[in-house]
Amino acid sequence: MAIKNSLYVVGATRGSNKIIYRKQYTRKNGGFNRALLPNPIHYYTTQLSQLPIKTKSKWILVNCCFHQDRNPSLSINIESGHFKCFSCNAKGCDILAFHQLRYGFDFITAAKDLGAWGHG
Ligand SMILES: [Zn+2]
Repeated sequence: MAIKNSLYVVGATRGSNKIIYRKQYTRKNGGFNRALLPNPIHYYTTQLSQLPIKTKSKWILVNCCFHQDRNPSLSINIESGHFKCFSCNAKGCDILAFHQLRYGFDFITAAKDLGAWGHG
């Protein structure tokens, strides 16, 4: 699985929301449009069947969907979409990475499935 290819954040610092994107993946005739991605809060609400445990302001803790999890160990930032599991080390920078990892989609398929693939 090409998890690394989905991580195109090159600069992210803890404690801030500053994210720098290396590529925009935009083309003249369609292409990835980050602005069309769903709000992380809404996306994760539909993806997660349980009520999350609130941790620090922007972070929630839920049972990890990437491994058999008995105690919530998946931490999700509901603003940026960043996620990280403290048990199985599943991680990504946004809901697109989450979508790819969870459903085994490649970048384009995940972008289209999330409605973030624009057309001309
Ligand atoms: Zn996990």
